Amino acid sequence: MNPYTIFADIIAGRAPASVVYDDPDVLAFLDIRPVTPGHLLVVPKVVARNLAELDPALGGKLFQVGQRLAAALRSSEVGCDGVNFFLADGVTAGQEVFHVHLHVIPRTPGDGFGLRARATSPPRADLDYLAGSIRGALTRG
Ligand code: 5GP
Repeated sequence: MNPYTIFADIIAGRAPASVVYDDPDVLAFLDIRPVTPGHLLVVPKVVARNLAELDPALGGKLFQVGQRLAAALRSSEVGCDGVNFFLADGVTAGQEVFHVHLHVIPRTPGDGFGLRARATSPPRADLDYLAGSIRGALTRG
C-alpha cells in the first residue's frame, strides 16, 4: 500500500494546516471537514498506517496530547462542554486517511454528532466466552 497521505505533507510543512500543537513526536491541527467546530486531529509524526504499526509509547503520547487538547477546547472560545475521542483503525472502522490519527471532537448539546449502533444484551456466558478468547489472544501477544 502506498504510504503517502496528505498528513505526511502537513507534517513536513508542504501542505497547509491550522496547527494547535506541535512537538518532536506529535502534531495536532484542525480537521478540514469538522463534524463540530474545533474538531481536531492528533497525529504521530512518524508514519504508522494503523494501530498495529504504531509504537505503543507513541500511542500513549497521542492520548496524552488528546487529553490536553480536550481541556484546552473546554476553556477556549470553542466553549464545548463535552469531548469525544474517536479513532478509526481500518477501512471497516471508517478509516479514510492511512496515517494513524486521534479525532478530538468538541461536543455541545444538540450538535448532531453521534455514532449509530445497535446495542445488544448478550447472556453472561457469551460475554465470558469472548473474554476468554481475547485474554488468550493477549497472552499469545
Ligand atoms: P478518518 O475517517 O480516516 O478517521 O478521518 C480522516 C479525517 O481527515 C477526516 O475527518 C477528514 O476531514 C480529515 N482530512 C482529510 N484530508 C485533510 C486535510 O487535507 N487536512 C485536514 N486538516 N484534514 C483532512
